[in-house]
Order: sequence, then C-alpha cells, then structure tokens
Amino acid sequence: MEKLHAIDREYRHLERVIAALQWDQETYLPPRGVEERAEQLALLEGIAHRRLIEPETGKLLAEAGASAENPRGDESLPALERDFLRVMRRRYDRAVKLPPDFVTASARAEGLSQAAWAAARHNNDFAAFLPHLKTMIDIARTKAAYWGFGNGSQTLYDGLLDIYEPGMGEAEISVLFAALRDRLTALLKKIQGCAPPDTSFLQQTFPIEQQAAFNQKLMDYIGFDCRRGRLDASAHPFTTTLGPDDIRITTRYFPGNLLSGIFSVIHESGHALYEMGFPPELRGTCLADGASMAIHESQSRFWENVIGRSRPFWDGLFPLLRDSFPEQLAGVSAEHFYRAVNEVKPSLIRVDADEVSYSLHVILRFELEQQLIAGALEPEELPAAWREKTREYLGLEIETSSPRSDADGVLQDIHWSMGSFGYFPSYVLGNLYGLQFTRKLRQDIPEFENLAAAGNFASLHNWLKDTIYRWGCRLEPAELLRKITGEPLRAEPFLDYIETKYGALYHVDKGQNFCHG
Ligand code: ZN
Repeated sequence: MEKLHAIDREYRHLERVIAALQWDQETYLPPRGVEERAEQLALLEGIAHRRLIEPETGKLLAEAGASAENPRGDESLPALERDFLRVMRRRYDRAVKLPPDFVTASARAEGLSQAAWAAARHNNDFAAFLPHLKTMIDIARTKAAYWGFGNGSQTLYDGLLDIYEPGMGEAEISVLFAALRDRLTALLKKIQGCAPPDTSFLQQTFPIEQQAAFNQKLMDYIGFDCRRGRLDASAHPFTTTLGPDDIRITTRYFPGNLLSGIFSVIHESGHALYEMGFPPELRGTCLADGASMAIHESQSRFWENVIGRSRPFWDGLFPLLRDSFPEQLAGVSAEHFYRAVNEVKPSLIRVDADEVSYSLHVILRFELEQQLIAGALEPEELPAAWREKTREYLGLEIETSSPRSDADGVLQDIHWSMGSFGYFPSYVLGNLYGLQFTRKLRQDIPEFENLAAAGNFASLHNWLKDTIYRWGCRLEPAELLRKITGEPLRAEPFLDYIETKYGALYHVDKGQNFCHG
C-alpha cells in the first residue's frame, strides 16, 4: 500500500505541474508561445502516463487484491484504503489500455487544436477549426474503443461520459433530459409572454479594474480563502487545482457586462470551495478529488444560482456592490438588482444563459455530441445543425451572414477543441444533483437563506464539508447521492425549484398560458 501511495503522489505532482502549464497557457502565455507549450505538455503527459502504467502498479494492485471484478481489494484493509484502491484501479485500467504513443500524440493534437480554436473563434472561421475538430473526434472515438466501449450494449459515447460521470450512460441521461426539455421549453414560452424586468441600469460601462476589485471583495465575502487560491482572467472561466492549498479560478471581463464577471466568480468559487474542503485524511491522495464532474458542477451551480441568484444573498451583498459602482447603481435597489440578475432572456451564449434556458444549451450540445461520436453527423454539418437546434430550443436565429455567426455559435465553447466530448451533460446533471442536495440542506438548516442574507456562511460551509466534501471521490456519484438524500438522480427537484422561483418572478400562473401583475 505504501508503494501505491508513493506512485499516486508522484503521479499527482505531475498532474499538477501539467495543470500549472495549462493554467498559464489560458491566462498569460503570449500567443507565439503556444506551439512550444504544446510540446512541453505532450512530453509531461507522456511521462505521467508512463508512470501510471508501469507494470509495478499493476503488480501492487494485484497484491492488494484489487482486480477489475473486485476493485476495492482485500476485505481486511481499512475502508479508506479500499476506496483508494478502487480509484487507483480505475485510473490504472483506464491508462493501461491507451498506448503511450497515442497519449503523446493526443496531447500534442489537443494543444494545437485549442490554439486553432481560439484563433478560429476570434476570426469567426469554423472552416479553419474543422480539421482539428475531426482529429479530436477521431481521438475521442479511438479512446473509448481502447477502453472497450462501442462493441456491445455500451456505446462509444457511453465510454466518454464515463470519464466525467462514472456509471452514467447516454440512455439514462436521455430520459432525464427529455423531461427537462419539455418542461423548460414550456416555461420559457410562458415567460416570454410576460413583462421583462427593468435591466436598463446594466447597459452602462463598468470599468474592468473596478469589477476586478469588487470580485476580490466578493470572494472574501463568501469565504474563499485567498491564501489558498487566486483569481485571474481568461477567455473561458475555469477552476484548476495546482495543489491542496493552491486552487486557481478565472473569470472574464467585459466593460459592458457587469454580471458575466461576477457570476463566473461565484460559480468558480463553488468549485474551488469543494477542492479546498476535502478532509485532512484524504489530503495528497487521489481521493482528494470531486466525486465526478457533475457533483463538482452541483457545487458551483449551487453557489452561483441557489445562493448567488437569491434575494437574501443580494440583500446582504448589494450595498457592497453599490459602493463599488456608486454612479452606475445610484437609485437601484437590492430587489431591483435581484430581478435583473434573474432575467430570463434566451441568448446565444451558454455561459451567460439564465437558469431557465441554460439546460437547453446543454441539451443541444449533448444531442450534437451523441451524433458526432456515433458518426450520425458529419463535422462539416455541425454549424447548420447548431443553428437549427438553437432555433428549435431557444427560439433564436443565428444569421449566417453575421460576423459572429460561428464565434457566438458552434465555436463559443472550448470543450470540443480539447476533445472533451461527454463533458457538457455534467453541467445539467450538476443542477439536478445540486437541487436534490439543497432539499436535504433545507431540512437540516431551514434558515440557511436568512444566514446568507446576513453574510453568514459559516454553517453552510460546515454543512457542505460534513455532508459532501468529506467524501472526496470515495463514493461514486450515485452512491454519494443516495447516501445523502436516499434517492436516485431525478429531474423533479430542479424543475420544481425553477418553476416555483420563476413562476413567482414572472407571475406565471401554473398550468396556464398567461401572467398577471
Ligand atoms: Zn463549472
């Protein structure tokens, strides 16, 4: 076990060095440095991969009794060690099935693809990205096939989903997403017939320096420990862990959009708090990790939406925001601001979407990914398919003549350029997990929203630590959910939350097609 822990530690250090280089690439790397950086990353990923697949690891796992059939190993071992074995076994099995040459070539292709995507998005030029996209689809399909998917009851896409959400397949997701699509498109239609809130005060200039200064205060306010992390700017907001006491988040700034920067910070802080909250006994091991991408997303979206877009939260925080922008927010009340940040207005951009239409952006991507990986949709046809689903689900037209037709369409997200097919569903599954957890939270701490109004997050942080963070990735997502809530994953708690909140905000009558008030 000691030798396995040593291998785990070394692998983890390598992973974090890779993450540091990637973080730098997304934040400060000058454009001409990209090609060399891709070489560096490919080299390190190759080294990390070889470390992981050394026959010694397999031998040690076997000696501890951890096999594909019994991944938790010898029953006489302590529970913590058995969970450690399960995670190591899974990681080893995944890695050992990928040839080293394939891993190195994939990493290099990924670096180049990401750079090509950034340029293509900037130039609104899908054609320039297309060859890279084809390569990334090939790599994803090949990877899933190496793992044994695609020749039985489990599809290639199931194999990709399994990376992010162990145990969850496309059939199960399709059922959950169908329920969401129907009720959310119905609600969206009703809301679009209602009077929108006044958001005119947001159509002003909010200088980037002031936004950045406010975001530092905001992180302090919600309890982000800046001695253990930092905030920077990047094209696409993200969180990355460079060590147990070094969690980086990023946001993006537009002088004409105050909310984008703020809500990305709250969202990424939710991820970071999870990473910072793993208990000491998991520290430095592979168990100090999120249970899955969707469980991670349940944390970020809980902070962003359930807390960050609630009335009590802004009762507490709004005075601080108004102090930061005294001219722009003169005469704006907390209630006014609360209504504005919950404006339901379908837009083309996923990361700026409201809570009602957000899931529809993800369902669109899920359906297109499924088709791309299954070979049912040619990459050349992707922009047209994107436009069609945007019209169908969001009721929006993307004019092909627009100078941002691809930039604000099919090129808006970084995921596919990195080969991260199967990742998008995590965002919505995260909403579902999050609202099931919130129901439990409400039972345990009925006054949690009042505490948020007072800027007092201590009991909330403790609850999250004691209930969710404490497990790290010791449990698979479905087990974790059952342990906390006693239930399997369901769409209803999320849909009930959305319909109640937005029904009240927009005075939508349940079951009827009109609004009043
Ligand atoms: Zn996230």
